[in-house]
Amino acid sequence: MSEGTVPAHAELPEPTVEEVSPGVFAYIQLDGSWFLNNAGFVVGPESVIAIDTLGTERRAHALHDALRRTSTKPVQALINTHSHGDHTHGNFIFGPGTAIVAHERCREEVQRANPAGVRARFPTGDFGEFPIVPPMITFTDRAKVFAGELEIELIHLGPAHTTNDVVAWLPEERVLFTGDLVFNGGTPFAAAGSIAGWIEALPALRELNPETIVPGHGAVCGPDVFDEIEAYLRFVQDAAARGFRADTPPLELALATDLGEFAGLTDPERIAGNLHRAYSELRGEPRGTPLLAQMFDDMIAYNGGQPLRCLA
Ligand SMILES: [Zn+2]
Repeated sequence: MSEGTVPAHAELPEPTVEEVSPGVFAYIQLDGSWFLNNAGFVVGPESVIAIDTLGTERRAHALHDALRRTSTKPVQALINTHSHGDHTHGNFIFGPGTAIVAHERCREEVQRANPAGVRARFPTGDFGEFPIVPPMITFTDRAKVFAGELEIELIHLGPAHTTNDVVAWLPEERVLFTGDLVFNGGTPFAAAGSIAGWIEALPALRELNPETIVPGHGAVCGPDVFDEIEAYLRFVQDAAARGFRADTPPLELALATDLGEFAGLTDPERIAGNLHRAYSELRGEPRGTPLLAQMFDDMIAYNGGQPLRCLA
Protein backbone atom coordinates (compact mmCIF):
# COMPACT_ATOMS: atom_id res chain seq x y z
CA MET A 1 0.00 0.00 0.00
CA SER A 2 1.40 3.38 -0.95
CA GLU A 3 1.61 5.94 1.81
CA GLY A 4 0.57 9.53 1.56
CA THR A 5 -1.98 9.17 -1.19
CA VAL A 6 -5.72 8.88 -1.01
CA PRO A 7 -7.79 6.70 -3.31
CA ALA A 8 -8.44 8.31 -6.68
CA HIS A 9 -12.15 8.92 -6.74
CA ALA A 10 -13.68 10.78 -9.62
CA GLU A 11 -16.37 12.23 -7.38
CA LEU A 12 -13.97 13.71 -4.83
CA PRO A 13 -11.48 16.59 -4.79
CA GLU A 14 -8.08 16.02 -3.16
CA PRO A 15 -7.89 16.92 0.54
CA THR A 16 -6.63 20.45 1.13
CA VAL A 17 -4.60 22.20 3.83
CA GLU A 18 -5.84 25.69 4.66
CA GLU A 19 -4.01 28.10 6.96
CA VAL A 20 -7.04 29.63 8.67
CA SER A 21 -4.92 31.82 10.98
CA PRO A 22 -1.12 32.14 11.20
CA GLY A 23 0.14 28.72 12.29
CA VAL A 24 -3.36 27.22 12.44
CA PHE A 25 -4.14 24.71 9.71
CA ALA A 26 -7.34 22.92 8.69
CA TYR A 27 -7.13 19.67 6.76
CA ILE A 28 -10.32 19.45 4.72
CA GLN A 29 -11.74 16.39 3.02
CA LEU A 30 -14.69 17.16 0.78
CA ASP A 31 -17.40 16.26 0.15
CA GLY A 32 -17.62 15.64 3.88
CA SER A 33 -19.91 12.63 3.54
CA TRP A 34 -19.58 9.39 5.57
CA PHE A 35 -16.01 8.98 6.85
CA LEU A 36 -14.70 12.05 4.97
CA ASN A 37 -13.98 14.20 8.00
CA ASN A 38 -11.69 17.13 8.71
CA ALA A 39 -8.68 17.41 10.98
CA GLY A 40 -6.22 20.17 11.84
CA PHE A 41 -2.93 21.12 13.37
CA VAL A 42 -1.53 24.09 15.21
CA VAL A 43 2.16 24.94 14.83
CA GLY A 44 3.75 26.55 17.87
CA PRO A 45 7.33 27.80 18.26
CA GLU A 46 8.72 24.37 19.15
CA SER A 47 5.96 21.86 18.70
CA VAL A 48 2.78 20.95 16.89
CA ILE A 49 -0.63 20.11 18.36
CA ALA A 50 -2.83 17.99 16.09
CA ILE A 51 -6.61 17.93 16.21
CA ASP A 52 -8.27 14.69 15.10
CA THR A 53 -7.09 12.06 12.66
CA LEU A 54 -8.77 10.35 9.73
CA GLY A 55 -10.73 7.15 9.28
CA THR A 56 -8.65 5.03 6.92
CA GLU A 57 -5.03 3.92 6.88
CA ARG A 58 -4.22 5.73 3.64
CA ARG A 59 -6.01 8.91 4.57
CA ALA A 60 -4.28 8.97 7.95
CA HIS A 61 -0.89 8.65 6.23
CA ALA A 62 -1.83 11.45 3.83
CA LEU A 63 -2.76 13.71 6.77
CA HIS A 64 0.52 12.93 8.49
CA ASP A 65 2.47 13.65 5.30
CA ALA A 66 0.67 16.96 4.87
CA LEU A 67 1.46 17.91 8.46
CA ARG A 68 5.11 17.01 7.94
CA ARG A 69 5.30 19.10 4.76
CA THR A 70 4.07 22.03 6.87
CA SER A 71 6.24 21.50 9.94
CA THR A 72 8.94 19.10 11.09
CA LYS A 73 8.52 20.01 14.77
CA PRO A 74 7.49 17.23 17.15
CA VAL A 75 3.77 16.57 17.51
CA GLN A 76 3.47 16.79 21.28
CA ALA A 77 -0.26 16.24 21.55
CA LEU A 78 -3.21 15.04 19.53
CA ILE A 79 -6.72 16.08 20.51
CA ASN A 80 -9.64 13.77 19.68
CA THR A 81 -12.85 15.81 19.39
CA HIS A 82 -14.89 12.62 19.91
CA SER A 83 -14.65 8.87 19.65
CA HIS A 84 -15.95 8.17 16.14
CA GLY A 85 -13.68 6.10 13.93
CA ASP A 86 -13.33 8.71 11.20
CA HIS A 87 -11.73 11.03 13.78
CA THR A 88 -9.74 8.39 15.73
CA HIS A 89 -8.76 5.41 13.55
CA GLY A 90 -5.63 7.30 12.52
CA ASN A 91 -4.47 7.92 16.11
CA PHE A 92 -1.78 5.29 15.55
CA ILE A 93 -0.07 7.44 12.94
CA PHE A 94 1.50 9.76 15.51
CA GLY A 95 3.18 7.01 17.54
CA PRO A 96 3.94 6.72 21.25
CA GLY A 97 5.71 10.10 21.43
CA THR A 98 2.42 11.99 21.06
CA ALA A 99 0.02 12.38 24.01
CA ILE A 100 -3.59 11.86 22.91
CA VAL A 101 -6.05 14.05 24.82
CA ALA A 102 -9.83 13.60 24.90
CA HIS A 103 -12.95 13.47 27.03
CA GLU A 104 -12.96 10.53 29.45
CA ARG A 105 -15.88 8.86 27.67
CA CYS A 106 -14.01 9.19 24.37
CA ARG A 107 -11.32 6.90 25.74
CA GLU A 108 -13.95 4.36 26.83
CA GLU A 109 -15.66 4.45 23.43
CA VAL A 110 -12.41 4.11 21.49
CA GLN A 111 -11.47 1.15 23.67
CA ARG A 112 -14.77 -0.46 22.70
CA ALA A 113 -14.23 0.29 18.98
CA ASN A 114 -15.27 -2.49 16.62
CA PRO A 115 -13.44 -2.11 13.28
CA ALA A 116 -15.13 -5.26 11.92
CA GLY A 117 -18.50 -3.63 12.56
CA VAL A 118 -17.41 -0.45 10.76
CA ARG A 119 -16.24 -2.45 7.73
CA ALA A 120 -19.58 -4.29 7.66
CA ARG A 121 -21.58 -1.06 7.85
CA PHE A 122 -19.49 0.69 5.19
CA PRO A 123 -18.51 -2.06 2.72
CA THR A 124 -17.26 0.43 0.10
CA GLY A 125 -14.80 2.13 2.51
CA ASP A 126 -11.10 1.42 1.89
CA PHE A 127 -10.16 1.24 5.56
CA GLY A 128 -6.83 -0.59 5.44
CA GLU A 129 -5.27 -1.57 8.77
CA PHE A 130 -5.21 0.61 11.86
CA PRO A 131 -4.28 -0.49 15.37
CA ILE A 132 -6.72 1.11 17.82
CA VAL A 133 -4.94 3.66 20.03
CA PRO A 134 -7.15 5.21 22.73
CA PRO A 135 -6.50 8.64 24.26
CA MET A 136 -4.18 8.48 27.29
CA ILE A 137 -4.96 11.86 28.87
CA THR A 138 -8.63 12.43 29.69
CA PHE A 139 -10.74 15.16 31.27
CA THR A 140 -14.41 15.68 32.11
CA ASP A 141 -15.30 19.31 31.52
CA ARG A 142 -12.50 21.56 30.34
CA ALA A 143 -8.78 21.40 29.69
CA LYS A 144 -6.14 23.57 28.05
CA VAL A 145 -3.34 22.49 25.75
CA PHE A 146 -0.51 24.86 24.86
CA ALA A 147 1.95 25.06 22.00
CA GLY A 148 4.31 27.65 23.44
CA GLU A 149 2.06 30.61 24.23
CA LEU A 150 -0.57 29.45 21.78
CA GLU A 151 -3.59 28.31 23.79
CA ILE A 152 -6.14 25.69 22.82
CA GLU A 153 -9.09 25.43 25.14
CA LEU A 154 -10.96 22.12 25.14
CA ILE A 155 -14.61 22.38 26.11
CA HIS A 156 -16.93 19.40 26.59
CA LEU A 157 -20.53 19.95 25.45
CA GLY A 158 -23.52 17.70 25.08
CA PRO A 159 -24.42 14.82 24.85
CA ALA A 160 -24.99 16.20 21.35
CA HIS A 161 -23.44 14.35 18.39
CA THR A 162 -22.03 11.82 20.88
CA THR A 163 -21.65 11.58 24.65
CA ASN A 164 -18.05 12.79 24.46
CA ASP A 165 -18.01 15.85 22.19
CA VAL A 166 -15.21 18.34 22.68
CA VAL A 167 -14.59 21.57 20.78
CA ALA A 168 -11.09 23.01 20.46
CA TRP A 169 -11.18 26.80 20.83
CA LEU A 170 -8.28 29.12 20.06
CA PRO A 171 -9.35 32.32 21.85
CA GLU A 172 -6.59 34.57 20.48
CA GLU A 173 -7.10 33.47 16.89
CA ARG A 174 -10.89 33.14 17.28
CA VAL A 175 -10.76 29.79 15.51
CA LEU A 176 -13.10 27.00 16.62
CA PHE A 177 -12.57 23.35 15.72
CA THR A 178 -16.05 22.00 16.39
CA GLY A 179 -15.63 18.30 15.71
CA ASP A 180 -18.96 16.90 14.60
CA LEU A 181 -21.02 19.51 16.41
CA VAL A 182 -20.94 21.13 12.97
CA PHE A 183 -21.54 19.41 9.65
CA ASN A 184 -21.24 22.08 6.96
CA GLY A 185 -23.22 20.93 3.94
CA GLY A 186 -23.87 17.52 5.47
CA THR A 187 -26.81 16.21 7.43
CA PRO A 188 -26.18 16.56 11.19
CA PHE A 189 -26.28 13.15 12.87
CA ALA A 190 -27.10 12.63 16.54
CA ALA A 191 -25.51 9.20 16.32
CA ALA A 192 -24.80 8.57 19.96
CA GLY A 193 -25.81 11.81 21.61
CA SER A 194 -28.97 13.91 21.86
CA ILE A 195 -30.98 16.18 19.58
CA ALA A 196 -32.10 18.31 22.54
CA GLY A 197 -28.59 18.32 24.01
CA TRP A 198 -27.16 19.46 20.69
CA ILE A 199 -29.61 22.37 20.49
CA GLU A 200 -28.70 23.28 24.06
CA ALA A 201 -24.98 23.22 23.17
CA LEU A 202 -25.30 25.77 20.37
CA PRO A 203 -25.61 28.92 22.55
CA ALA A 204 -22.29 28.06 24.20
CA LEU A 205 -20.67 27.85 20.77
CA ARG A 206 -22.22 31.14 19.64
CA GLU A 207 -21.08 32.78 22.89
CA LEU A 208 -17.46 32.02 22.04
CA ASN A 209 -17.99 34.38 19.10
CA PRO A 210 -15.67 32.57 16.69
CA GLU A 211 -14.58 34.15 13.43
CA THR A 212 -13.57 30.94 11.73
CA ILE A 213 -15.06 27.50 12.16
CA VAL A 214 -13.37 24.28 11.14
CA PRO A 215 -16.28 21.85 11.11
CA GLY A 216 -16.02 18.11 11.61
CA HIS A 217 -17.22 17.64 8.05
CA GLY A 218 -17.45 20.11 5.16
CA ALA A 219 -15.71 23.33 4.19
CA VAL A 220 -14.31 25.94 6.59
CA CYS A 221 -17.07 28.40 7.42
CA GLY A 222 -18.29 31.15 9.72
CA PRO A 223 -20.69 31.11 12.68
CA ASP A 224 -23.82 31.40 10.51
CA VAL A 225 -23.55 27.62 10.24
CA PHE A 226 -24.91 27.30 13.79
CA ASP A 227 -28.30 28.56 12.58
CA GLU A 228 -28.34 25.92 9.85
CA ILE A 229 -27.54 23.15 12.34
CA GLU A 230 -30.21 24.38 14.73
CA ALA A 231 -32.82 24.61 11.95
CA TYR A 232 -32.21 20.99 10.97
CA LEU A 233 -32.29 19.73 14.56
CA ARG A 234 -35.56 21.56 15.24
CA PHE A 235 -36.98 20.17 12.00
CA VAL A 236 -36.19 16.66 13.27
CA GLN A 237 -37.77 17.40 16.64
CA ASP A 238 -40.94 18.78 15.04
CA ALA A 239 -41.31 15.79 12.73
CA ALA A 240 -40.65 13.40 15.61
CA ALA A 241 -43.26 15.07 17.83
CA ARG A 242 -45.93 14.55 15.16
CA GLY A 243 -44.88 10.98 14.39
CA PHE A 244 -44.56 10.00 18.03
CA ARG A 245 -48.09 11.20 18.79
CA ALA A 246 -49.40 9.21 15.82
CA ASP A 247 -47.37 6.12 16.80
CA THR A 248 -45.63 6.13 13.40
CA PRO A 249 -42.44 4.01 13.30
CA PRO A 250 -39.30 6.14 12.69
CA LEU A 251 -38.56 4.61 9.28
CA GLU A 252 -42.10 5.11 8.05
CA LEU A 253 -42.02 8.70 9.28
CA ALA A 254 -38.62 9.29 7.66
CA LEU A 255 -39.85 8.04 4.29
CA ALA A 256 -42.95 10.22 4.53
CA THR A 257 -41.04 13.35 5.59
CA ASP A 258 -40.27 15.97 2.93
CA LEU A 259 -36.73 17.13 3.75
CA GLY A 260 -37.45 20.45 2.05
CA GLU A 261 -34.55 22.90 2.45
CA PHE A 262 -32.41 20.08 3.90
CA ALA A 263 -32.78 17.73 0.93
CA GLY A 264 -29.50 18.95 -0.60
CA LEU A 265 -27.35 18.04 2.42
CA THR A 266 -25.13 14.99 1.98
CA ASP A 267 -26.21 11.73 3.64
CA PRO A 268 -29.94 12.63 3.86
CA GLU A 269 -30.75 9.09 5.11
CA ARG A 270 -29.58 10.27 8.54
CA ILE A 271 -33.15 11.52 9.01
CA ALA A 272 -34.09 7.91 9.79
CA GLY A 273 -31.37 7.62 12.44
CA ASN A 274 -32.09 11.05 13.87
CA LEU A 275 -35.78 10.21 14.29
CA HIS A 276 -34.78 7.17 16.36
CA ARG A 277 -32.79 9.52 18.57
CA ALA A 278 -35.67 12.00 18.87
CA TYR A 279 -38.14 9.21 19.69
CA SER A 280 -35.78 7.92 22.38
CA GLU A 281 -35.82 11.37 23.95
CA LEU A 282 -39.62 11.57 23.70
CA ARG A 283 -39.78 8.24 25.55
CA GLY A 284 -37.73 9.89 28.30
CA GLU A 285 -34.69 7.66 27.84
CA PRO A 286 -31.31 9.00 28.95
CA ARG A 287 -29.43 11.12 26.43
CA GLY A 288 -26.86 9.06 24.60
CA THR A 289 -28.83 5.82 24.92
CA PRO A 290 -27.18 3.40 22.41
CA LEU A 291 -29.33 3.12 19.27
CA LEU A 292 -26.84 2.65 16.47
CA ALA A 293 -28.00 -0.81 15.33
CA GLN A 294 -31.60 0.32 14.71
CA MET A 295 -30.37 3.61 13.20
CA PHE A 296 -28.16 1.91 10.62
CA ASP A 297 -30.77 -0.71 9.71
CA ASP A 298 -33.28 2.03 9.01
CA MET A 299 -30.86 4.34 7.19
CA ILE A 300 -30.02 1.48 4.82
CA ALA A 301 -33.73 0.70 4.43
CA TYR A 302 -34.34 4.43 3.74
CA ASN A 303 -31.84 4.11 0.88
CA GLY A 304 -33.76 1.18 -0.55
CA GLY A 305 -31.41 -1.41 0.95
CA GLN A 306 -28.28 0.09 -0.64
CA PRO A 307 -25.09 0.35 1.45
CA LEU A 308 -24.44 3.84 2.81
CA ARG A 309 -22.47 5.95 0.34
CA CYS A 310 -18.94 5.82 1.78
CA LEU A 311 -16.22 7.19 -0.52
CA ALA A 312 -13.40 7.10 2.06
ZN1 LIG B 1 -18.68 11.81 14.47
